[in-house]
Amino acid sequence: MFCLKAMPAPAWVNSDTLLKRLLSNRRLRSSVTFSSTTRPEKTDHGRNRSGAQRASARLQSPGKSGRAGKDRTNSSSAANEISVDFEQSQEAYRSKDSLELLRSLVVFKLCSYDFLVDKNEKIMYLGKTILGQKVFDQLMKMTFYGQFVAGEDHISIKPLIQKNQAFGVGSVLDYSVEEDISQKEENQKESSSVSAGGEGSIGKGYREKNYETGRQLGDSQREVIGTCTYFYADEAKCDQHMETFMKCIKASGGSSMNGFSAIKMTALGRPQLLLRFSEVLVKWQQFFTFLASQQDGMEALEQRLELTQLQELMIKLGAESDFLGWFTRKKGESAGCIDILDWSSLIDDRVNTSGLLLVPNVKLDKLEPLLKNFTTEEENQLKRTLERLDVLAKCALKNGVRLMVDAEQTYFQPAISKLTLDSQKIYNREKPVVFNTYQCYLKEAFKNVTMDVELSRREGWCFAAKLVRGAYMYQERERAKEFRYEDPINPNYESTSTMYHRCLHYLLDEIALNRKANVMVASHNEDTVKYTLKRMNELGLLPTENKVFFGQLLGMCDQISFPLAQAGFPVYKYVPYGPVSEVMPYLSRRAQENRGFMKGAQKERELLWKELKRRLVSGELLYRPLY
Ligand SMILES: Cc1cc2nc3c(=O)[nH]c(=O)nc-3n(C[C@H](O)[C@H](O)[C@H](O)COP(=O)(O)OP(=O)(O)OC[C@H]3O[C@@H](n4cnc5c(N)ncnc54)[C@H](O)[C@@H]3O)c2cc1C
Repeated sequence: MFCLKAMPAPAWVNSDTLLKRLLSNRRLRSSVTFSSTTRPEKTDHGRNRSGAQRASARLQSPGKSGRAGKDRTNSSSAANEISVDFEQSQEAYRSKDSLELLRSLVVFKLCSYDFLVDKNEKIMYLGKTILGQKVFDQLMKMTFYGQFVAGEDHISIKPLIQKNQAFGVGSVLDYSVEEDISQKEENQKESSSVSAGGEGSIGKGYREKNYETGRQLGDSQREVIGTCTYFYADEAKCDQHMETFMKCIKASGGSSMNGFSAIKMTALGRPQLLLRFSEVLVKWQQFFTFLASQQDGMEALEQRLELTQLQELMIKLGAESDFLGWFTRKKGESAGCIDILDWSSLIDDRVNTSGLLLVPNVKLDKLEPLLKNFTTEEENQLKRTLERLDVLAKCALKNGVRLMVDAEQTYFQPAISKLTLDSQKIYNREKPVVFNTYQCYLKEAFKNVTMDVELSRREGWCFAAKLVRGAYMYQERERAKEFRYEDPINPNYESTSTMYHRCLHYLLDEIALNRKANVMVASHNEDTVKYTLKRMNELGLLPTENKVFFGQLLGMCDQISFPLAQAGFPVYKYVPYGPVSEVMPYLSRRAQENRGFMKGAQKERELLWKELKRRLVSGELLYRPLY
């Protein structure tokens, strides 16, 4: 535990150039000292040995069981024992007829050609023009659409959902219609590509520039379409999207028990507002970091500010607000220190605390209101976004469905995550209903995960999340380069994987500790899945407890999904659906996002070949799955 020491205000605090000094990180660091006690050691979170043994017995190959009483945490020999066989092609493809296997082979082969992936939008456009819509649609259904999309509407997808269900694989329904609009329309509509303003405010590093857009990004709207950002027409359109998601939730409830339904927040509110709200949230956190200073190696959650010193500091900076009063009223007399979560809670009560929400503006050399750019109408629009999310969460709860909020681009994500957390506070009291998503390709992923887990502990709700590596890497990198801010993405694939496993390790520990949290390991990466199984076994987390789920996209990695399901793990396929002409951006994204993955799909292709050959030799080419 680290806490700010009570100390007299340093001399520089009285100087005229206070603000500039405050904003000089180095000086601030020397003025704020921390006392550190030993960080609590991570304990062996109440590992349930008999549970671990049972899980292991399920996973071990025959004859390797019976290691009762041995502590197998961190034991490499134990790691070797865990084996769901991902090489078993016959088991993996039991739910597929031979034509489906052939289609997978063709589609994966096509996806390995860079020029097809790079030029996919042009090729599709050309195909439509030459073949005509009808023939083109048919061709798509026989190939890409048939591989990655379940059907046109919630009725036509039912057979596929039931078939997967029969083989132990559940569904996350994902209505994937994205608006594809002409260049002319693009220019008329307001998209996510808008200016966030905020000149000269604190910490003008990558984070703030991240929210600075404008003409240049307006020019790259094509890219935004390709990565599925909804275009904002008006509030009525957002209501329409909400209705669509409700249909999806009901379909999910009707077709399976304990299903999931996925939503995108940019469909539920004005993206421009999400972007600006994101800016506000980030600035506010940055200000705390400036105040609390950044001791080397200190995690965000370990930083503390002493309230009396905060009050003194703010008064000297020119603020008249009663921070001390607000926090002590909220936390009780004993609270002498606040951390970043306490600090962030001021935003929750922003209508009443707007007087406290001040951040330094370097250019103007004074404090300025954090919410200065928010009109009452905008505050209402933000409220309506939350209300739509609320309607969807209620609908999910009523239909026995869990709501998965997808993660999107970094400049929306703080707002998306904040609104999701607000909803989790309400609906995840008894059980996890709303799931957030964390993208581990972000440098800040671990910080985000740990802060939100801590929030869930403090507020007593069930943490629930999907863990992904992240889908917008190319777009994020290009944008960071264009606007010259620090790339928010980890420098290479290895660091993203390390981050993924670090976050996953932390979440699995959290689940083992209190059995309240849930996580979906949403990855096609076999090593990540094996890592999860190993850790589950070490911690005694049983598949039947339904705390750790696995997620893959429809049409990909059946050799991972189906063996996992057969071993008793809860596995879900993201099941997109929608009319052919309207899911093209989704298909294009599938190819682009997973290009790296597709190149690595060699193993999947080999297994598909192996199974096809086996069926040919054994006279089972006309095999039809029974369910
Ligand atoms: C069920 C499910 C739900 C999903 N939901 C979302 C969502 O809500 N939001 C979202 O953004 N994505 C989502 N995705 C997509 C996901 O983020 C990945 O893009 C995709 O799954 C590939 O990652 P992987 O772990 O499966 O495979 P891998 O092949 O192991 O990883 C590929 C990923 O690694 C990262 N990477 C690759 N090269 C580099 C590099 N040079 N530097 C840094 N990182 C690199 C990228 O994130 C890339 O997508 C979802 C995926 C699944 C399976």
